[in-house]
Amino acid sequence: MTCDRVRWGRIEIPFTCKWSPRETLAISVHPDLRVEVNAPLDTPPEVIRERVNKRGAWIRKAWREFELYLPKQPPRRYVSGETHRYLGRQYRLRCVEGNEESVKCLRGILYVVSRTEPAPERAKMLLEGWYREHARRVFRERLVECCKRATVEGIENKPPLFIRKMVSRWGSCSGKGRIYLNLELIKASRECIDYVIMHELCHLKVPSHGPRFWRLMEKLMPDYEERKRKLNQFADV
Ligand SMILES: [Zn+2]
Repeated sequence: MTCDRVRWGRIEIPFTCKWSPRETLAISVHPDLRVEVNAPLDTPPEVIRERVNKRGAWIRKAWREFELYLPKQPPRRYVSGETHRYLGRQYRLRCVEGNEESVKCLRGILYVVSRTEPAPERAKMLLEGWYREHARRVFRERLVECCKRATVEGIENKPPLFIRKMVSRWGSCSGKGRIYLNLELIKASRECIDYVIMHELCHLKVPSHGPRFWRLMEKLMPDYEERKRKLNQFADV
């Protein structure tokens, strides 16, 4: 495997290339934004670069789509003083000693309580449990609200909802009509959560991201572009 890059307009496209005994050259963009080329054994590097360059517009489009779903959070250390988000707001973390293990959110502070001052690993576990508990309630509540609008379009009312830890997406839906939401999404505002839920609900009717999909999205959530933009900003912080 080799690494190479091409310039396409003002952007640079880095890619990896693997040669193998195959007939045709294939370019793929992964959810983590990696561009991968699989080429027949005898393909010279300049031909590969030319092919990547030709697909520049398509690669950029794929990047943009995947970027919408990349939850880019700086790594957290789970120590007192750092900020953690919940429903679009910042909260200061405080790890303290107390009678029993709990997490409380009071006046802009997230208290993580443990019998002895919780070590980062313990604090992380407790806080994640708290996020999950709140995600279960909030996501369900938002699903009910979004379904009120979506059922008009013949979209199934309240499809099964699951919460997962995902690395590269905010949400997804399965062929069986299940909706999966990233646990991290509980850190975004309700309007962004609604955007992701509505997006997945629309996929129950239109699986791909073609014009029909975005028309449906526009109909059910006329300000979806704005919400999408906010979700991106949120992810960039
Ligand atoms: Zn989608």
